[in-house]
Amino acid sequence: MVSEMGLMNFLGSSVHVITTDDNILQGLLYQDAEMKSLFKAFPEVLYVDITYRTNDRQMTLCLLLVEDGNGESEIVGVWLLCDDTIDSDVIKNALSTFCTDNPDCSRVRYVMVDKDLVERETFSAVFPDAAIYMCFFHVLRTFRREVTTDKMSITTSQRDGCLEMLQQMVHASSEDSYMQVYIDFMAVAPTSVAEYFNHNWHGVREQWVRGLVSQQASLGNATNNRLDSISQKLKAVITPNGTFASCVTSLRTAIESLRVERDHRAITMVQKRAVCSHPASDPCYEYAQLLTPYALELISKQMSKMQLMQSADIVDEADGTWSIRSTSGVVTATADVCQCVFFTNIGLPCQHILAVRKASGLSLFAEDLCAVRWTRYYYQSSQRVFLTTSSTATSTTVSDTTHCSTLTQGEKRRQALMVRSVVYITL
Ligand SMILES: [Zn+2]
Repeated sequence: MVSEMGLMNFLGSSVHVITTDDNILQGLLYQDAEMKSLFKAFPEVLYVDITYRTNDRQMTLCLLLVEDGNGESEIVGVWLLCDDTIDSDVIKNALSTFCTDNPDCSRVRYVMVDKDLVERETFSAVFPDAAIYMCFFHVLRTFRREVTTDKMSITTSQRDGCLEMLQQMVHASSEDSYMQVYIDFMAVAPTSVAEYFNHNWHGVREQWVRGLVSQQASLGNATNNRLDSISQKLKAVITPNGTFASCVTSLRTAIESLRVERDHRAITMVQKRAVCSHPASDPCYEYAQLLTPYALELISKQMSKMQLMQSADIVDEADGTWSIRSTSGVVTATADVCQCVFFTNIGLPCQHILAVRKASGLSLFAEDLCAVRWTRYYYQSSQRVFLTTSSTATSTTVSDTTHCSTLTQGEKRRQALMVRSVVYITL
C-alpha cells in the first residue's frame, strides 16, 4: 500500500505532511533533490500554479516552478492540498516550509500566483522583499473558467465576445490601450460579467495587464506557453477520478517524462554549440558562445532595436552618462549600467547600453554585463544530464498548522490517508 505511492523512490527528497492540531490532513509537500538544486540555481522568479482537482479525494495539485537559464519552466516543488481546507493558513504554512527547506527563497524577487489561490497578502508575508503578480496564463484560464454561460447566465455568443475582449485587456500594452478596450467592454458586456470583472479584476489591473507588469515581473516573454505546455502534459497522464496512489504515480511519470525531454534539449543545445549563424566578427557570435540560445535571442532583439536608433537618439551628456531615446522612452545609461527594466531585471546588456558602447567605440560584446544564470556553463552545471548523481538521505518532516476545523466525512477519509502517509514516510 505504501510503496505504490512511490515518492520514496526519489533520493534526497523532502516530504512534509501538513495537518491540523487534531491530525486532520491538509496537504502533502514534496520536493526531490533535483527540484532543490534547480530552485537554488534559478530562484529569481517563482511561479505558483494550481492545476486542478486530481483524484477521488478531491485534492488540489499545486506546482512551484522557476525559469531556468534557457527559458524553460522547471518544477521545483509539488504540493497536494486538501481542496476544502485550502486557505491562507495552509498556503502560508506550505510556503514557510518551502522556505525552511530552501534558504535561497531570500533571492526570490517576483512571485507569480494564481488569482484563485489565496490573497496576495499571504505571499507577501512569506516573501516580504518580492513583488507579487498574477501570471497571464492563470488570468486567461480563470476568465475561461468563470465567464461561462451557466455561471454568468449569458449566451454563447455573449461569452465568446466577452472572452475575446478580456483577452485583449490581458495583452494591452499600456494603460491607455487597456482603457480603450475596457470602455468598449463595459458598453457591451452583460451586467453579470461587468460586475464580476469590476469586482475582481479592474481595480488590480496593474497585477495582470501585460503592458503594466510584464517588464517588471518576467525574465522573458514565453511564460504563457511554457506553463501551458507543462499543464497540458500533466493533464494527459492524470486521471481525474483516480485514486491518490495513482495520482502520485502519474505525477512521477509526468515529471520524469518532462525531465527526459529537457535532458534531450540540453544535450542538443550543447552539441550545437559550434553552429552559429553569425560571422565570427559579429558580437552575437561571441554572445552565442557565452549564452544559452534563449538568452542569445533576448540579446539579439536588443541588438536589433539598437540598430534602428538614429544618431540623434543617442546624446552624450558630457558627465559620463548618455540619454538614449527608444520606443520605451528616454533613459539614462552608461557603457556599463542602465536604468531600464530589461537590464535591471533580466541582467543582460540592453539596447541603451549597446547604443552607448557603439557610440563610444567600445565592443558590443560585454561579458561582464551578462548575469551568470544565462551562461551556457551555468546552465550546464545545473542540468542533471551533465552531472554525476549523488544520493543523500531522504529527510521527512511532519508539521502541524494551527488551523482548526470540524471533522467532516471527507476529513475522516483524509485522516485515514494521513495515517498511511505518516507510516509510509517514517518507514
Ligand atoms: Zn537599458
